Amino acid sequence: MSLFDNALKQFDKACKVMDLDPDLQAVLSKPKRELTVNFPVKMDDGSIRVFTGHRVQHNIARGPAKGGIRYHQDVTLDEVRALAFWMTWKAAVVDIPYGGGKGGVTVNPKELSDGELERLSRRFFSEIQVIIGEDRDIPAPDVNTNPQIMAWYMDTYSMNVGHSVLGIVTGKPLDIGGSMGRTEATGRGVRVCVEEAVEYMREKGKINKKNDQLTVAIHGFGNVGSYAALLTAEELGMKVVAFSDSSTGVYKEDGFTPAEIKDIMDYISARKARLDDYEGEVNFKKISNDELLTLDVDILIPAAIENVITEKNAKDVKAKLIVEGANGPITPEADEILNEKGVLIVPDFLANSGGVTVSYFEWVQGLQHYFWELEDVREALHKKMKNAFWSTIRTMEKYNTDMRSAAYVIAIERVATATKLRGIYP
Ligand code: GLU
Repeated sequence: MSLFDNALKQFDKACKVMDLDPDLQAVLSKPKRELTVNFPVKMDDGSIRVFTGHRVQHNIARGPAKGGIRYHQDVTLDEVRALAFWMTWKAAVVDIPYGGGKGGVTVNPKELSDGELERLSRRFFSEIQVIIGEDRDIPAPDVNTNPQIMAWYMDTYSMNVGHSVLGIVTGKPLDIGGSMGRTEATGRGVRVCVEEAVEYMREKGKINKKNDQLTVAIHGFGNVGSYAALLTAEELGMKVVAFSDSSTGVYKEDGFTPAEIKDIMDYISARKARLDDYEGEVNFKKISNDELLTLDVDILIPAAIENVITEKNAKDVKAKLIVEGANGPITPEADEILNEKGVLIVPDFLANSGGVTVSYFEWVQGLQHYFWELEDVREALHKKMKNAFWSTIRTMEKYNTDMRSAAYVIAIERVATATKLRGIYP
């Protein structure tokens, strides 16, 4: 089953819960616009390689399309379509004025030199320029893309139109119109969801331990996973016992201290290394990614890629709370198994909406040429995420459903209202 089919399954379930008009359901089930480009890049050895990329705009009823661009060898149009679809609901649930978009290039960027990566990035951005724009569609980082690549995108577009356009892309470096707090934003949003979800579960008697006794495992140690690990340890005082990347998982029974997590983050980013290459001061046991997902912990944060919890391992998951830092980490079949077990799942497009929320702040700052202090960004993000979290809990209780469907209900209601108000043209 394709990723977009999985996403539609979740959507259809929520439409039933809220009894959505079938005409609107049909409109919202399809992406508005999809662009596929094949483009040549000159490699360092003088040869030419042709790459394929996509940009999908799912819906623009509430504002311009918004969403990241990923570089990964497994990128397909179907995957990008699912991710664009989730961006629509992500922007709506956290109530920022955007529609949903996403892009991707089928490439393993780790096999490219810096020069090849830059030429690929600039050419891809030029190719999709026909549908993007600061009030049309605003890209951002996603898996394997970063502020440097956003700088190349911004420069490419600006060169093509003849003047600097800050609002064309978010997640830019600070020196060229980035926002304070953007890099940590998705991890910080996950941390807010962990804190609020634990509070909710304490209210319901489902968690009785104090924070410093709560154990956390994090699948993924990229931008989202690493900051989620650091902030749950540092600011919530929880015991982060394990995290992983595609090379290995690392485990420490009494938990990694914030300083240890920071040391590992710095080691990896300074050397473009992976966890398996770590040779610093921190001692740990290595475990596999499969072991990590089924560790006996209170909280599990899948923060890497899609489809990691499936019907095969869902029954072995021991966590009581799952906060989805990644997009689509749990398949619909696994979702059902976990819901039946009574696991609280904070769904991806709510849990990881911190990134796009601070992207929104960055876009607003760029358009106004007025830049905020770090504390202002953090406070505004915290407020948005906390509000979205508790609205979802209230909706979940009102409809007596799961948290994922509740988040869809809120988001679909907002997009459906915008669609009805605007009407169908002509
Ligand atoms: N790629 C991130 C996401 O999936 C951020 C998107 C953005 O900032 O526009 O939410």
